[in-house]
Amino acid sequence: MTKLALIGIRYDENSSFTKGAADAPPQIRAALRSEAWNLTSEDGTDLSDDSTFFDAGDIQPVAGSEMPALIENSIHTLLADGLSPISLGGDHSITYPIVRAFARKFNNLSVLHFDAHPDLYDSYQGNRNSHASPFARIMEQKLVKRLVQVGIRTFTSHQREQVKRFGVESIEMRHLRSDLKLEFDSPVYISFDVDALDPAFAPGVSHREPGGLSTRQVIELIQQLKGQVVGADIVEFNPRMDPLHITGTVCAKILKEIAARMLKG
Ligand code: MN
Ligand code: MN
Repeated sequence: MTKLALIGIRYDENSSFTKGAADAPPQIRAALRSEAWNLTSEDGTDLSDDSTFFDAGDIQPVAGSEMPALIENSIHTLLADGLSPISLGGDHSITYPIVRAFARKFNNLSVLHFDAHPDLYDSYQGNRNSHASPFARIMEQKLVKRLVQVGIRTFTSHQREQVKRFGVESIEMRHLRSDLKLEFDSPVYISFDVDALDPAFAPGVSHREPGGLSTRQVIELIQQLKGQVVGADIVEFNPRMDPLHITGTVCAKILKEIAARMLKG
């Protein structure tokens, strides 16, 4: 059976507007283990057994220039041990080194990317490692076969050009249909930026963008997804922006549904 690995990445140095996402991993772990609810996904998958998750702990931040290699090597080690990593961010810049590690194992990887933002800037505020740029790096290095984005509602003309340049399949929020079915014929990695959700559901993000997905829509897309999910991340949860302490719970709920989907194979 697939064994899942949880790894926290306490890093938000590439967040452009405000910091705080580095504080997220312990909050998501606490929400996941809270006695306020159970560890069973909606399809009945029991995630409470000690053997379900190998907890790899948190990667503590090191000097900025060394961090991407540390993330890539940590994920590579988990994959080499036969584990399927789920990373808890951290800002979205962590997804580039994570996908680099996955691409070493899977030569036909696809990425399903939930986000309000396309994160395709060639550079942002002069930073090519910005959390607004990971998918530009992933696509220019041809690390993945397909990049499918869902929930996008902040396109600039530069980012529209990047979509064309890289052949990104971007499903904008304004075009989202209720009967959308996501299908992949190669291993798929899910990158979940919490701001894909409407801030009414998940206010604890650095860049609140109204008009987003409901928690229910995300859960249904994950449950109905066709394809083998081999890894995932949940990024951009910012506890400092979460006065009602609701967003960690939402992250834990989505984590449970992604984990159950991964175990289904
Ligand atoms: Mn993002
Ligand atoms: Mn975003």
